[in-house]
Amino acid sequence: MTVPEPATSRPATAPSTTSRPTLTADVPDIAPDSARPTHDGPLATAQSQLAGAIRRLGYDEGMHAMLATPRREINVAIPLRRDDGSTALFHGFRVQHNVSRGPGKGGLRYHPSVDVDEVRALAMWMTWKCAVVELPYGGAKGGVAIDPRRYSQAELERVTRRYTSEIMPMIGPERDIMAPDIGTDAQTMAWVMDTYSVNQGYTIPGVVTGKPLEVGGSLGRATATSRGVVHSTRAALHEAGLDLPDVRVAVQGFGKVGSHAADMYADAGARVEAVSDQYGGLHRSGGLDMQRVLDHVRTTGSVVGFPGADPIDNTDLLTLDVDVLVPAAVEGVLTADNALDVAARWVVEGANGPTTAEADAILAERGVVVVPDILANAGGVVVSYFEWVQAQQAYWWTEAEIEQRLAERMLHAYAAVAEVARREAVSLRDAALLLSVQRVAVAHRTRGLYP
Ligand code: GLU
Repeated sequence: MTVPEPATSRPATAPSTTSRPTLTADVPDIAPDSARPTHDGPLATAQSQLAGAIRRLGYDEGMHAMLATPRREINVAIPLRRDDGSTALFHGFRVQHNVSRGPGKGGLRYHPSVDVDEVRALAMWMTWKCAVVELPYGGAKGGVAIDPRRYSQAELERVTRRYTSEIMPMIGPERDIMAPDIGTDAQTMAWVMDTYSVNQGYTIPGVVTGKPLEVGGSLGRATATSRGVVHSTRAALHEAGLDLPDVRVAVQGFGKVGSHAADMYADAGARVEAVSDQYGGLHRSGGLDMQRVLDHVRTTGSVVGFPGADPIDNTDLLTLDVDVLVPAAVEGVLTADNALDVAARWVVEGANGPTTAEADAILAERGVVVVPDILANAGGVVVSYFEWVQAQQAYWWTEAEIEQRLAERMLHAYAAVAEVARREAVSLRDAALLLSVQRVAVAHRTRGLYP
C-alpha cells in the first residue's frame, strides 16, 4: 500500500515526475531478528509500532530490517573525577537510528535508568518525528546513565565534556545534532558545543540546539515543545468543535514540557485541574491557579505542598475525570493495566513513548483520541531546526517569526496526519507512523543502496 501524500503537503523527497518506488505487497508476518526487542519496554513499543506500519504499507522484510535497526551506535565509558577526589564511572550511548533524510537529530538524556534499548527506541521515534514534521533530518538520541541531581554542576560539566569527546567522531552540524532532553538543559548544550568547537579549532554553534541565547540559541526554543503540544491539542479539539476554554486538563510531569504546557493551557482558558512531578501531584476541581503553582515550584522546587489543592499521586492523575490528559513525563505510563480506566477523551503525548502498544490498542478501541508523541511533542525539534538554520546562516529571527513558523508547521503536520487517519480509517498514531515511515522508506529507496 502507498499512502498518498496529503494534498496539503509538499513532496518530502522525490518530485512527482519521478516514478514512485513500488512498494511490494509481500507482508512479513514476523519481524526480522534485528527487529525483535530484547526486553519489554520502550523498544518493544517502538518496534511494535514500526511492525504495524510495515504491515500496512506492505514493505518487505529487508525494508523492515533496515528501518528496525540503528545505522550506527556508540557505547562509551565515562570516568568522572568527583569533587572529593574519588572516581566514578558511567555508561553513555549515542544511537543514530536513520540518516536517510539528513543528519541525525535528537536529544541527550541524563537519567539513572538510561540503557541502550531505551536510547534505540528514542532514536527511532526521532526519525519518525522529524519525518512527520518534514524536517531534513534523520533520528538520533544519546543518553548517560546518571542521576544528575546527585552531582555538582562542576561534575556534570566534566561528565558532559568527557561524553562529548568520546562520541566526537559521530557528531557535527552535518552529522548528528544534539539537544536537551530529560536531565539536561541549555547549559549542558553549551558545554557540548564548547568541547566540540575547541577540538575543531573554531566555534561551531550548529552542533547542538537548545543552547543558551548568548551562544547562538534561538528565541522560543525553551518553550517550543510545550507550545507545540498546545497547538496540537487545540487542533484535535477543533475536530470535535471544541476549544481550550471548553476543557478540563490533567498534566503529568512538571519539567521542561509539562510546566510550560500547563501554564499555556491555563493562559488559553482551559481548566488545568491536576499537575504532578516526580515527588507527587495536585488536584483541584474547577482548576488550579497556575501562576500560584508556578510561584510555589520556583520557591520549593516541587508542586507538592501547594495550598488550596488536594494531593494526588502520579498514577491516580492518569485516570482522573478530565477531558484532556497530557502525559509529559516518561515512557510507559499508560499500560494495559490502566488504559481501561483512562477517563479523558483526548490523550496528548507530551512525553516520548508514554503509551505502550497494548494500552494504545485499548485506547483506540475505546474511542479515546491519542495525539501521538511524534506529532504532539514535535514543536521542540521544529524550533531546534529553526535554531540550526539560523546558526548556519548567522542570521537571527524574531520571536514572532519563530512562533508563527512553529504554529504553521504544527498545524500543517496535524492536518496531514488527520487527513491520512480519515482516509485510511486509522488512529492518529497509525496515520503519523504511516506517513513518516513511508517518507523515510521513499528517501532510502530514492537514494538507492551503496555499493
Ligand atoms: N529531546 C527533544 C525530543 O525528544 C528535542 C529533540 C531535538 O530538539 O533535537 O523531541
